[in-house]
Amino acid sequence: MHQDIEEILISEEELQTKITALGEQITHDYAGKNLLLLGTLKGAVPFIADLARAINLPLELDYMAVASYGNSTQSSGIVRIVKDLEGPIDQKHVLVIEDIIDSGLTLHYLIDLLRRRNPLSLKICSLLNKERTRLKDVPIDYHGFTIPDKFVVGYGLDYAQLYRNLPYIGILKPSVYSETAQ
Ligand code: 5GP
Repeated sequence: MHQDIEEILISEEELQTKITALGEQITHDYAGKNLLLLGTLKGAVPFIADLARAINLPLELDYMAVASYGNSTQSSGIVRIVKDLEGPIDQKHVLVIEDIIDSGLTLHYLIDLLRRRNPLSLKICSLLNKERTRLKDVPIDYHGFTIPDKFVVGYGLDYAQLYRNLPYIGILKPSVYSETAQ
């Protein structure tokens, strides 16, 4: 285990087992449909890469980057588009692939924006769902794990751009943020 990690919350094996099951469910639900997996950069990259390979259907991949966090562990509430999609989505069934839903602010903004582009359907798949009161309510159609209200890193999730390459989801030692804050 990495020295900055206090506890492994979800192991590599648990992640892969869940992703295989999600892939089977999505394969069943989207059979015969023009599916676009829309990944949010950068956090959802490992998840979308594994999930896409667990879906046994023709599909397209595209990415959007929206920023709502700086280097801190709190959502700022300010969301801006850093990278947009390559093309229109009005002929596509869009499945948004997220790493984590915390306050719901980021996804609420994204969903609103995507709805205005008239996709054939719009659903959400989030690997993690944080157990806390949302500031904005968002419907989650597929989700992997519900986790406690703690700051987690790994499998795409960062702190100050680090730890995204850990193969598991872990809780960061609080001493790591207090050291960075000094
Ligand atoms: P929300 O807008 O729902 O509060 O936050 C969504 C975004 O905040 C996520 O896509 C993720 O980038 C970041 N985020 C929320 N909770 C955590 C967490 O526990 N760890 C990390 N690394 N990022 C988080």
